Amino acid sequence: MTDMLSVEAALDQLLAAAVPVIESQTLPAETALGLILAAPLVSGVNVPPLDNSAMDGYALRHAECVDGAGEPQWLSPWLPISQRIPAGHPGQPLQAGTAARIFTGAPIPDGADCVVMQEDCEAGTDEVRVMRPPKPGANIRRAGEDIQIGQTVLEPGARLGPAQLGVAASIGETRLTVYRRLKAAVFFTGDEIVLPGEPLGAGRIYNSNRATLIALLNQLGIEVIDLGQIGDNFDATLVALQRASAVADVVITSGGVSVGEEDHVKAAVEKIGRIDLWNVSMKPGKPLAHGRIGNVDFIGLPGNPVSAFVVFCLFVRPFLLKRMGAIFRPPAGFHLPAGFTRAKPGRRREFMRARIEMNRAVLFPNQSSGVLTSLAWADGLVDVDAGVTVNVGDPVRFIPLSELLA
Ligand code: AMP
Ligand code: MG
Repeated sequence: MTDMLSVEAALDQLLAAAVPVIESQTLPAETALGLILAAPLVSGVNVPPLDNSAMDGYALRHAECVDGAGEPQWLSPWLPISQRIPAGHPGQPLQAGTAARIFTGAPIPDGADCVVMQEDCEAGTDEVRVMRPPKPGANIRRAGEDIQIGQTVLEPGARLGPAQLGVAASIGETRLTVYRRLKAAVFFTGDEIVLPGEPLGAGRIYNSNRATLIALLNQLGIEVIDLGQIGDNFDATLVALQRASAVADVVITSGGVSVGEEDHVKAAVEKIGRIDLWNVSMKPGKPLAHGRIGNVDFIGLPGNPVSAFVVFCLFVRPFLLKRMGAIFRPPAGFHLPAGFTRAKPGRRREFMRARIEMNRAVLFPNQSSGVLTSLAWADGLVDVDAGVTVNVGDPVRFIPLSELLA
C-alpha cells in the first residue's frame, strides 16, 4: 500500500490509466441514448429552416405602425387582413398596407418585418389594428438562429442524453456514429453475502452492492455481465477474474480488496495481472484499486455499501466515462450554509450524505459507511476538508447526487 493520496491525486492517477475505446459504429439514433458520439455531428440544414413567427398574432410592416412623424403611435390605422398563414403553410408576399394573420411556427411572408402578438391587437373579422407598437423584427425567429448549415452541433465525446438526441433529430439525423458500448463484468465477494430472494442464514447479510452497482452501470450506458457472487476464497476469486476478464473491457468487483486475511482480490489480480491499490485520504472509502488483466481494466470497490457507492461516483464514474470516450466534466457542486455543526475536525476529507432543507445542508444522522439508507435519503454529498470544523451557517460545498449519477 502506498501512502495516503489526496482525492484529486487519486482521481488523476485513475484517469491517467483510462484509455478511451476507439471502435465506433453507426446506429439508429433511437438506440443511442447514453452512448458517446464518435464523430462531429455537422448540420446539413438551417434550424429553423426559415424565418417564422414566435407568436400567434399578425405579421406586418413595422413602418406601417408608426405615424408620419416617426413617433410610435399607440394605435396603428386599421389594416386589412390580407391572408392567413398557419404553421407549415408558406403564405404570399405581404401586400403593402395590410397585415397577415399568422400562427406560431408559420413562415413569415416576404415583406413583413415584425409580428405583433394577438394580445397587443384589436381585431375585427377582416381588419386589425395594433394597440402597442412593436419593435422592428419583433417575434420573428430567424432562419438559422439555432443552427446554421455546416455548423458542428455536437463534438466527438458528447454524451447522448435527451437534449443531444433532440438536437440530432432537429437536423434530421436518423443514425449516429458512436463509440461502441463498453462492457463491464461484475462479481461480488464475501462469505457473508446472500442474494435477495434467498433465505438469510445466520451471520449473513443481503448483497446490496449488486443492485447498486448494476444500476449505476446501466445508467452510464454500460453493458453489464453479472458473474454473481463468490466466497472469500483465493481460487474462486481467480477463476471469477479469469472468466470476467475474458468477456469484458472492465472488471469491477466489490469487497475483499482490503489487506486482511480474508481479502483475496488483490493477490488474485496480481497472479494474472497487476494492480495498484491506493489509500485515498477520504471518508467514506477504503482503498481504491485499479489494475489490468491483459488489456482489461480491473476496478476493486470496497465492500461497505456507502463506500462502494461514493467511491464509484467520485472515481469510477469519471474513469468509465473517459474509458467510454466521453468528455468528462467534473461535478462543480455549489456552496450553501451548513445546517449542522461539526465541532471536531476530521482527519480525512469527508463526503457526508446530506439534503437541502430551508436552503441549508442538513446531514443524515448516521454517517456510517454501512448505512445505505443515508444515500437513499440524500440529495447530495457535503464535502468537508480534513482539519475543518463547521458551525451552523458556515458555507459548505454541496455536490448534488444528480451531478454524480447518470
Ligand atoms: P470488505 O470490503 O469485503 O471487507 O467488506 C466490508 C463490509 O462490507 C463488510 O461489512 C461486508 O459484510 C460488507 N459487504 C461486502 N460486500 C457487500 C455486498 N455485496 N453487499 C452489502 N454489504 C457488503
Ligand atoms: Mg469481504
